[in-house]
Amino acid sequence: MYIIFLGAPGAGKGTQAAGVAEEFGLVSIATGDLFRQAVERGDDLGKKVREFMAKGALVPNEITVQMVLNKLAAPESGKGAILDGFPRNLGQAEALDEAFKKKKQKIDSVVYIKVEEKELIRRLSGRWVCRSCQSPYSIQGALTEEQKKCARCGGELYQRPDDNLETIKNRLKVYFSETAPLISYYRNSGRLIEVDGEGAVGEITQRIIQALRKKTCKNK
Ligand code: ADP
Ligand code: ZN
Repeated sequence: MYIIFLGAPGAGKGTQAAGVAEEFGLVSIATGDLFRQAVERGDDLGKKVREFMAKGALVPNEITVQMVLNKLAAPESGKGAILDGFPRNLGQAEALDEAFKKKKQKIDSVVYIKVEEKELIRRLSGRWVCRSCQSPYSIQGALTEEQKKCARCGGELYQRPDDNLETIKNRLKVYFSETAPLISYYRNSGRLIEVDGEGAVGEITQRIIQALRKKTCKNK
């Protein structure tokens, strides 16, 4: 089973991908996380993508598509995967469909997580992430020393450099102009599942799992 998670920055793709991947025994491939790890390592890939990420711009397709296809070809992706943050424009979506067609496989479902713009900005500007396990937290205002520790692993929480208001606004602009058109691309091919992304994390996870189960039954 291959699933795409589509939605604006702050829609909760990463959080939900983790829960849904666990439920179905899939790996989750998050392009943003892969790029951030490369920047942290300071390797060739990291040097190439750093500037784009800092501005909130998209990394060029030739770099991104290659990285994702490599990940999909790895043995751990053999049972299926959730793509979180990819594709993000029409070129990437077409390259992905093309690559799957060659392998005689397909993207089964595209989960579109819908959240209002005002809520997106609120979430992104209050987002803290664990340096060790990448768990996200949503905390508004200043943090106490106790709050700066990850509840899951004790790691240190930090704010992503692209989670400042100016860059957030640019990421949303890029999302609405480049990524949002993918909603109709996948709707037209009958693969889109729309899920309300507002509410408690666990509830949204259940909504997605139910919708995927229903869709998989229909396809059989
Ligand atoms: P968010 O969804 O919150 O904006 P991500 O962690 O998914 O954050 O992505 C962070 C940054 O990584 C993006 O702003 C962009 O620069 C880069 N990036 C991630 N995925 C892609 C992609 N599919 N194509 C191009 N750039 C990407
Ligand atoms: Zn942690």
